[in-house]
Amino acid sequence: MNIGLLGHVDHGKTSLTRALTGKWTDTHSEELKRGISIRLGYADADIRYCPKCKEYTVSEKCEKCGGKPEVKRRVSFLDAPGHETLMTTVLSASSIMDGALLLISANEECPQPQTAEHLTVLNILGIKNIVVVQTKVDLVSKEQALEHYNKIKEFLKGSVAEGAPIIPVVANHGINVGEVARAIEESIPTPKRDKDSPPLLYISRSFDVNKPGVEVSTIKGGVVGGSLLRGTLKTGDKIEFLPGIEREGKGPKPISTEVTSLMCEGGALKEAHSGGLIAVGTTLDPSLTKGDSLAGCAVGTPGSLPPVLGELEISYSPIERTEFDNPPPKVGEPIVVSVQTSTTVGVVSAYKKGTVRIKLKKQVCVGKDSTVALSRRVGQRWRLCGWGKTR
Ligand code: ZN
Repeated sequence: MNIGLLGHVDHGKTSLTRALTGKWTDTHSEELKRGISIRLGYADADIRYCPKCKEYTVSEKCEKCGGKPEVKRRVSFLDAPGHETLMTTVLSASSIMDGALLLISANEECPQPQTAEHLTVLNILGIKNIVVVQTKVDLVSKEQALEHYNKIKEFLKGSVAEGAPIIPVVANHGINVGEVARAIEESIPTPKRDKDSPPLLYISRSFDVNKPGVEVSTIKGGVVGGSLLRGTLKTGDKIEFLPGIEREGKGPKPISTEVTSLMCEGGALKEAHSGGLIAVGTTLDPSLTKGDSLAGCAVGTPGSLPPVLGELEISYSPIERTEFDNPPPKVGEPIVVSVQTSTTVGVVSAYKKGTVRIKLKKQVCVGKDSTVALSRRVGQRWRLCGWGKTR
């Protein structure tokens, strides 16, 4: 299962992730080994339960009785660096997001603008499986923490997160982390998986796992990482990558290969289903997959993938932004399009209220009804301005 981590940049995501999983999602070198997104950082945690003490935990030992708690579920936490990237990622990767943790720091006024924008994104997507985590409660008095807790309740009123559990934690000292695990278990159910449709995975990262100077006979094929949206992948499956390899001036070239191995953070898999992030070993020349060169491609059985498109028609809804004016898109305006795991620049070719057409610089492989995040240039930066669904 995939759970997004949302909240203001300084609201303790990294500490909570470390408390839940024992890792930093910031560690890029660690990520590199595992096959994950440059934009979707992730770390896995096992949610465990001690039947004797009736306590939840994320550690292998029950903090109370010292016994061995049983594993209930494995969860992948998704994070992304920076506020704009995070919002864009959450929107474009919403098809793999099963729930969210919304972090709100107790030592700042609630809501901070970024927190409000994240709640807007959750509202847009209609993600109702939310656990709110009130972080850094050790930095305020008990009275202030209670007052802040009530402010959070007020802030969530009328949103998708109204009534969501609010768990106060001190992540750095592991205090109440077990209660976060309990809230996840109780409030974020594993969705029903579609195992029987043809598999569909969007590559969030691709790489070469071979060390420099390795013997030719031991070279491993190219590896891609991502999350299955539907279906099942097995070793030995024949697969296709679309759009494929970019060729200068000639458009992309589709790739055919075979699944040679499947891995999740816990180890090798015989077959993979949707939920959680996986790495897929292939027979490809690893030079084709290195440096995320295949990120954004769709993977599936030959002939089953969505169409490859150079222009998208998208239903358009603006996103209310607090820090800048956000008028409707203009014909000729450059726009960054994020859909599934691909991000490409495009130009608005037509706009009428509620619909925008965008001509893309790089083709994408997407079906109808995929959620698209659109960013426009504001000053020197790309800022999320709107969203929609492909038609
Ligand atoms: Zn116990």
